[in-house]
Amino acid sequence: MRHLVRSRSELQRQVTELVEQQAAISEVLRAVANSPHDLQPIFDTILINATRLCRATFGGFLLFEEKGYRTAARIGPNPVYAEQRPLGLVYPIRQGDPLARLTESGSPVHIADLAADQAYLRRDPLVVDLVELTDVRTCLLVPLLKDDELIGALGMTREQVQPFTDRQIDLVRDFAAQTTIALESTRRERQYREAQMALAHANRVAMMGQLTASITHEVKQPIAAARNNARAALNFMDKNPPDLGEVREALGCIVDDADRAGDIIDRIRDHIKKVPARKDAVEINDAILEVIALTRTEAANNSVSVRTQLAEGLPRVQGDRVQLQQVMLNLIVNAIQAMSGIGEGARELQISIDAVPSEGGVRVGVRDTGPGLSPESLSRLFEPFYTTKPEGMGMGLSICRSIIEAHGGRLWAIPCEPQGALFQFTIPAD
Ligand code: ADP
Repeated sequence: MRHLVRSRSELQRQVTELVEQQAAISEVLRAVANSPHDLQPIFDTILINATRLCRATFGGFLLFEEKGYRTAARIGPNPVYAEQRPLGLVYPIRQGDPLARLTESGSPVHIADLAADQAYLRRDPLVVDLVELTDVRTCLLVPLLKDDELIGALGMTREQVQPFTDRQIDLVRDFAAQTTIALESTRRERQYREAQMALAHANRVAMMGQLTASITHEVKQPIAAARNNARAALNFMDKNPPDLGEVREALGCIVDDADRAGDIIDRIRDHIKKVPARKDAVEINDAILEVIALTRTEAANNSVSVRTQLAEGLPRVQGDRVQLQQVMLNLIVNAIQAMSGIGEGARELQISIDAVPSEGGVRVGVRDTGPGLSPESLSRLFEPFYTTKPEGMGMGLSICRSIIEAHGGRLWAIPCEPQGALFQFTIPAD
C-alpha cells in the first residue's frame, strides 16, 4: 500500500527553468520599452538571454536577408574573429549547409561536432570560420519565425563538443518564438506598446501552460495513490468481518497523499516567491498610466469607462517595473471581465494611486462596479487555481500576491457598497 515518494528535483528544475525564461522575456520587454527605435540593444538583449537560457558559451544573432544571413549581434568568441568578421557581415546560404537546412525546415538545426560535419568538410564559410577562427565545436541554430515567416536565426555555440539537450533546444525555441513578437513591434513603432502587452500576455499563457503541465504531472501521483488506497480500504471494509486495522492504515495513507499534493503546490509557490525581483526605482504613476493605456481598447469594447486619480509628488517605489505592470494588468483585466457580465448599471473602473506615509510607500487601488465578491470568493480569491470563469486558470491573483509580497508590500480585496470590488496593494518607497 505504501508508495515511493519521488524526488522533487525534477519539478524544482522545471520551475527554475520557467522562472529563468520569464526573467529572460522580462529583459527583452524592458529592452523594447527602453529603446523602441533602436534595434541593436534589443538584438543584444535577446542574444544574451538566449545564450544564458541554453547554457551556451557564445552566440550570434542572424537576420535573414535576400542574399543570406547578416550578423546583427554577437557574443564572443574572440577578438580575432570580431576583427576579421565584423558585425554586418552576410553569410550566403549554400545548399546543404546548416543555414540552408535551417531555412528549408524552419526548425532548429543541431550540430554536435562542427568539425565532423559535412559542411566543414565541404568548406562552408560559416562553419569554417567557427571551427578555424574560434574553436567552436557544438552549434545550435534556432529560427526566428514570425507567423511562419523566417526573419532570422539565433546561433548558440559551445567551445567543446558538448551537445545541447532536447530541453535546452526547446527552451531557446520557445524563447525565440516569443521574442519575434517584440521584434515585430519595433517595426511599427506606434504600436509597440500594444505588442508589448501581447508579448506579456503570450508569455503569461505559455508560462501558465507549462506550469500547469508540471503541476499536473506531479499532483497526479498522490491523487492516483489516494485512489488506490481508497479502493483498498473499501475491499477491507467488504471483508467479513471488516478488517478495520487495514482500513485505518489505508485511510492514514490517504491523508498522507492529500498532504503531499498540498505540499507540491506550496513548494511551487514558495519557489516562485523566492525569485528576487529587480530593484529599480520605479515611477509608479508612469508605469500604471502605461498599463491603463494598454487596456483602453479592452475597456472601450466592454463599455467600461475608466477614471484615474493620481496623486502628485509620490515617492518612487523600489522594484521590478515589468512585474508591477503585470500585477496592474491582471487587476484591470479582472475588473473589466467582472463588469462585462453585468446587464444593467454603470460600468466604471476607478484607478487610484496615493501615498501612505504611515507605511512609507504608495497605495494603488483598482475598483469596479461589477458583481462584487461573495463570502466564498472573498476567502478563496488568492488561492492558486480558484476561478469562477469557464476559461479561467485561477493563477492570476495568486501570482499577483506573490509578486507584491516579494516587493515587501501587501495585496488585498474589499467588497464595495452598493456593488463591485476594490483591490488594493501597497509598495514600499525606494
Ligand atoms: P482567473 O482570472 O483565471 O479566474 P484570478 O486568480 O485572476 O484567475 O481570479 C480568480 C477569481 O477571483 C476569478 O475567477 C473571479 O471569480 C474572482 N475575481 C477576480 N477579480 C474579480 C473582480 N474584480 N470582481 C469579482 N470577482 C473577481
